[in-house]
Amino acid sequence: MLQPIYLDNQSTTPLDPSVLKSMLPYFQNKHGNAASVHHAYGREAKEAVEMARRIIASELNAQTREIIFTSGATESINLAIRGVCDQQKEKGRHLITQVTEHKAVLDTCVAMEKQGWEVTYLPVDAMGRVDPDAVMESIRIDTVLVSIMHANNEIGTIQPVSEIGAICHSKNVFFLVDACQSFGKLPIDVQEMNIDLLAATGHKIYGPKGIGMLFARQKDPKIKLTIQLEGGGHERGMRSGTLPVPLIVGFGSAIEVCQEKRDGENAKLEKYRDQMIDEIITAHPKVILNGPRRNRLAHNINLCFTGLDAETLITKMKGIACSTGSACSSANLEPSHVLKALGHDNEMAHSSIRFSLGRFNTLEEIQKATREIIDVVMNIEKKLPRHQYINN
Ligand code: PLP
Repeated sequence: MLQPIYLDNQSTTPLDPSVLKSMLPYFQNKHGNAASVHHAYGREAKEAVEMARRIIASELNAQTREIIFTSGATESINLAIRGVCDQQKEKGRHLITQVTEHKAVLDTCVAMEKQGWEVTYLPVDAMGRVDPDAVMESIRIDTVLVSIMHANNEIGTIQPVSEIGAICHSKNVFFLVDACQSFGKLPIDVQEMNIDLLAATGHKIYGPKGIGMLFARQKDPKIKLTIQLEGGGHERGMRSGTLPVPLIVGFGSAIEVCQEKRDGENAKLEKYRDQMIDEIITAHPKVILNGPRRNRLAHNINLCFTGLDAETLITKMKGIACSTGSACSSANLEPSHVLKALGHDNEMAHSSIRFSLGRFNTLEEIQKATREIIDVVMNIEKKLPRHQYINN
């Protein structure tokens, strides 16, 4: 069977072959426990972990001791929000976030509300951008943390994190950034951007699944976190559990490849993205681009096929693997909270599809997928009673 063209890279990316190669020895003969430093196997594993930590820290302009390895961004975000809140509860019990965050942030905020915390959910504009002035205005004397994502997983909007970081810094409020979709793809400097905590994951950057990290600033200001996983005191006591050495090695290697390829890859994907959007909208002028045209991740396309049902379209696009939103929200039938936040009604949200491009997509695949999308829409439109389409 012919494999569908993979356009779901924001859900997860395939493993880069060079990343796999870097990991393999640590699944085989280099099998030591990084905590067993009394013998050569353990020391070898520890060295590999520390090398990956150095690579990741340098990508962020952070210190190695500020990087905590976790199982993924969901865990990092939980550790950051719950860990900071617990430490700061004497200062106050107020958090600020925004409505298009990933559920990892939103649901953790809901959990904090159940513990008596107050959360301000800032709105976004029609392009999905949060206003830094709104962040400034909502900071109160009892605010302990602002959590704003770097780039959105559904519509690719890039948030003004530098401006928000400067505001948080001036107000002495900690700033957490969910950088799952931008880490390795957009340059990030936690010093320049005044970021105090940052969460990222391996499986969005052609690395392995099951590995993530949290950057937690150790100086100016020093972030104290209440431990969420007790145990053997790994990761300077911040996250116990035997380190998954092959995954950590793969995570570091994935970042190295991103550093090497970033500029060329972004330029290529931006070209493919714009070409796809233009051709589809030219063929079907009722199709609307969700999110901004510029100031958007190079690999994200999210289109509203006005009047048509996204689930039906996806079923008919047999040659393409894509999704109706983020992988997690497409598991339920609720309309996407991100698209609703842009002001879309339920029907528009249910008419929208995300196509996310990646490193291994070729021009030929992009052209083929574009043709298939145009043809499927044309065939469905032809079958629709005329009045039904026009009324939508
Ligand atoms: N935040 C964003 C923006 C994401 O896209 C994802 C992944 O779906 C997550 C958080 C959760 O990451 P992980 O799968 O590593 O827990």
